[in-house]
This record gives sequence, structure tokens and C-alpha cells, in this order.
Amino acid sequence: MISDHEQAGEQTRAVHGPPLRPVVERPLSPPVHRVAAFAFDSSVEYRDKLAGTVAGWSYSRVDNPTAAYFADCVAALEGVGLDSEVVGQPFASGMAAISTSLMAVLTAGDHVVAPAEIYGGTYSLLSQLLAGFGVTTTFVDSTDLGQVAAAITPSTKVVYAETLANPTMTVADLPGHARVAHDAGALLLVDSTFASPVVCRPLEHGADLVMHSATKYLGGHSDVTGGVVVGRPELMAKVRKARIDLGGALSPDDAWLLHRGLATLPLRVDRANASALAVAQALDGHPRVARVDHPGLTSHRDHELAGRLFGGGRYGAVLTVTPHGGQDEGMAFADALRLVAVATSLGGTHSVVGHIASTTHRQMSPEALAAAGIGPAAVRISIGLEDAEDLIADVLQALDQAPG
Ligand SMILES: *Cc1c(COP(=O)(O)O)cnc(C)c1O
Repeated sequence: MISDHEQAGEQTRAVHGPPLRPVVERPLSPPVHRVAAFAFDSSVEYRDKLAGTVAGWSYSRVDNPTAAYFADCVAALEGVGLDSEVVGQPFASGMAAISTSLMAVLTAGDHVVAPAEIYGGTYSLLSQLLAGFGVTTTFVDSTDLGQVAAAITPSTKVVYAETLANPTMTVADLPGHARVAHDAGALLLVDSTFASPVVCRPLEHGADLVMHSATKYLGGHSDVTGGVVVGRPELMAKVRKARIDLGGALSPDDAWLLHRGLATLPLRVDRANASALAVAQALDGHPRVARVDHPGLTSHRDHELAGRLFGGGRYGAVLTVTPHGGQDEGMAFADALRLVAVATSLGGTHSVVGHIASTTHRQMSPEALAAAGIGPAAVRISIGLEDAEDLIADVLQALDQAPG
């Protein structure tokens, strides 16, 4: 900072403004630290803060105050009630969070056990990219813990689970997965995107790392991409180091939006969960519907497990509806919806629908889809914040338009 900036040239004065006015009051919303680089009082301070021997900010790929604050807030939600400390790391996307977590704890020769019904991006990461680096994965029907245990080898370092699986809303037996993983000396990594910490907090059930696509419920407005990982400090130090090396840093502006989303997370998730159950109940047994998958329905295979793990009577806000017929009937049902938009993603204010076999699960063969319980007509609906009565009226009018 130059002291006598009135004396300097125009461009120097344009770059070096007067000192920032100190803010002594606590702003009610966090400031956006929209900055890539920090300045220091001395070279020694620069050296120590960059090396991390003295706490502080140095460079925003390393740590940014706004991004770190968002991750701290998610850690506070995921770690509530635990006796040990829980910390978080922010990421540019859910896939950055997942890929960095896996690379932080795996090395060539290691083995992973993962569910066959896994998020497509994670499937691609494990089966292709990480396979190229010498990490092997066995995909199993993880609804059967016996299959998870049978897939363990002496090289298994990670057991991977998704709290609620896409699109059948299968619920992972997290305590069972934790037992199998820890008996083998492996870690349990859980993608809890579909649940959010309002529905389930996997650390309570034995998870070692919990990962989220913050693009979904945490942000909650379909206007920002981000990710976050939470866990105990020792393991999270590895995740932070891998994040710095891999570079998937969350931008300060996006972190600010994600933090804003958190303030209404329980209100939004509660509302969307209740509406999803109401819509599922309205469709269950409808003459034009072959099948409805939602764990809030007593007919769902994991209804009882969900009740035990989730407490609180919440079951997620996604449901899969399978009208009678094939792909054409499924797509026609999605297109006949008026309030519910045909759109990607989930977890936002707006309800959205997508035909599964032609979009999120397009890489799966008809046989693999059938084995996973996904019919050719199945559509996934993510329930948003519209009134439940309006959503029910919409799905019923769309079914009325179905031929036959
Ligand atoms: C969307 C999603 C991801 C990937 O998150 P991005 O923010 O799109 O990178 C990972 N897992 C699940 C379950 C998701 O729904």
C-alpha cells in the first residue's frame, strides 16, 4: 500500500486505492471475498501462510474465506451432535468433491466396492478414469450386504455408498456398510446428495467421508454448481491436500450463493419431502401407473430401513413413476406435465421430470435396466416447492392424457 497516493500517477492511483475501511460490526450475511490472491506485511508472513505453518489466507485455490465458510456451515449441519470434530472442504462441483475424495484416499493397486446402481458420473470415474490409474472397482448389488462383504479383497480401501440411490430411491444400509468396510480396514465414503443433511447424516451411521453435489439441495435453486465433502479432521487434511493439487476450487461467488441456500435448506427439504410423499401416494395404485418408487410408501422395499435411518418421517423428494407402456408412453407422460418441467438436475425450487432410460441411464442396456428395476417407461420426478395439490393435479391430468 503506498501511503502518499495523491502524489502517484493516474494509473498507480487507479490500482492502489485508499485503504479498505475496517468492518467492526458483524455483517448478517457473509461477505464475498472475491479475490484470488492475498497480500502480507512481510515475506516471512507470506512464506509461513503459504506453507500453512501459520494459519491464514494466501491464494484462493488453496483456501478462500467465502468458500471455506460455506464448507464450515455444511460441516456444522452434518456433524451436529457428534462428539468428535467434523470439518468440510468446498469444491467446484459434486464430481470435483467425489473425484478428489477418491484420489485422496486411493493409490494404484487399491480396490473399491461400489453399488451397481451408482450415479453415472461416478460410475464413469471409477470404471474408466481411475481404472486407468490402476484402481479397480467391483460393482455389486449393494442392497445385499452379503454381496458387499463377498467383494472385499485384501486390497479393498474404499466401500462406496449412496444414501438414496438414483432413480429407484434404494436406501443404503449405512451401519451395515460401515461394519463391512471397517472390518476390512477400509473407509466408507457416502454420496448423500439425494438426502441432504436434513434427511440423513451419514457420519452418525459410520461413514468416514460424506460428499454432496451442492448443485442440488444445498444450493437449492438450480442456479449454481458446487460440491462439498465433510469428515474428521485427519482424513479431511488429505482431502484438502488433494483438492489443492487437483484444483477443483469453489469460486467465492458460487460459495456465497450456496451459503445462502443453506439458510432455507431444512424448510425447503421438509416441504419438498412432504409433497413428494403426497404425490407418490396419489399415484400409487393409479390404473395407468405400473409402479411408483419412493421410500415413503409402505410398499417400497426400504420403507422400514428409511424409517430407522432417517428418523423424522422424511424420505427424500425424488420419486420414480413408471406408467404402463414403453418408452413412448413414459416420454408422453413427462411431456404432458404442465407444472413439472422436463429438465436436468434435481433438488431445486422447481419440480422437474426426466425420462430415465433415454437420459440419466442411457448408457445401460435394456437388460441392465430391467435388472436394476427400471422399466422402459420410467420417469424420475424431483419435487420442488410448488403446492402439493397443484403437483398432484398436474400428474393426474398428465395421466388422463395417456392413450388407452
Ligand atoms: C448431480 C450428482 C452428482 C454430481 O454433481 P455435480 O454437481 O453435477 O458435479 C453426484 N452424485 C449425485 C447423486 C448427483 O445427483
